[in-house]
Amino acid sequence: MVKNLSAQEIKAEAQRLGFSACGVAQADHVNPLAHTHFERWIKQGCHATMGYLENHEEKRVDPRLLVDQAQSVISVALNYYPGQQIPANEYQLSRYAYGKDYHDVVKEKLTALLDFLQANYGTNGRAFCDTAPVLERYWAWRAGLGWIGKNTQLIIPQAGSHFFLGELIVDQPADQYDTPQLNRCGSCTRCLEACPTKALEAPYWLNANKCLSYLTIEHRGAFTPNAPLLTGNTIYGCDVCSQVCPWNRFATPTEVQEFAPSEALLQMRKEDWHTLTKAEYQQLFKGSAVKRAKYEGLMRNINALEKGTNK
Ligand code: SF4
Ligand code: SF4
Repeated sequence: MVKNLSAQEIKAEAQRLGFSACGVAQADHVNPLAHTHFERWIKQGCHATMGYLENHEEKRVDPRLLVDQAQSVISVALNYYPGQQIPANEYQLSRYAYGKDYHDVVKEKLTALLDFLQANYGTNGRAFCDTAPVLERYWAWRAGLGWIGKNTQLIIPQAGSHFFLGELIVDQPADQYDTPQLNRCGSCTRCLEACPTKALEAPYWLNANKCLSYLTIEHRGAFTPNAPLLTGNTIYGCDVCSQVCPWNRFATPTEVQEFAPSEALLQMRKEDWHTLTKAEYQQLFKGSAVKRAKYEGLMRNINALEKGTNK
């Protein structure tokens, strides 16, 4: 007979491992609204050149196709809000990228949670963190962690949106599943108004082609003539739509040491960025997610900002 997992025990262990929030949902096909929303988003080309998002749609909308006999999705959130910030007048990196690569940090903690379940319940499953076709924010919502805001981020009440998400998809049912939270954006539209490139074309609708986060990280090669100009001071990612969100006034500094910025990063001044060599880049971002933009991509962003034009 299949043993039920204790949702309470899972959450207590997740907390012990340092996760800020944890919830459990029944593994199932995503609801039709989420499926249609995703399909429309892809169809309209809002994923820009991130072609991988077109693949494995059947798995993306049904976690039971990712893990044999999947019964439950355990969703977790890990706080990355840094206690120390890069000075406001210097070039900015998105706060999530200040420290070590979150994929490794979240995966390590998730694996420890899976080991705990394996030892206590004989659970089989897989850990995911932005590495497989999983609708992570949807599952975080389903597992009761928070709601998906108009800026498309997962917002945790009284905590905000500075969280990495991860999941365990496991082959056992839980004794209790969490209830999704109601959306609490209300009549607020601050994120839509503040987005410098109008990439948030409508509530819950982000066109990556216009998003500075996409352009500075995922986009390869030169900027296209139609790409919005890089604005502000950002050379990697963009935090505007999360910074203006009133729920982020509840953000508290993370206790995860790996996410703290290095002294070397905090000391970087504009002139240092302009003359950054590849060797210095590799040293500065050893084990960091910033490697995703590659040296050439980062320097392209810096040059574009310096000249005030992407073209
Ligand atoms: S990350 Fe920046 S550019 Fe992208 S939607 Fe948010 S505010 Fe707009
Ligand atoms: S800024 Fe306002 S509308 Fe946008 S996600 Fe936050 S609460 Fe929702």
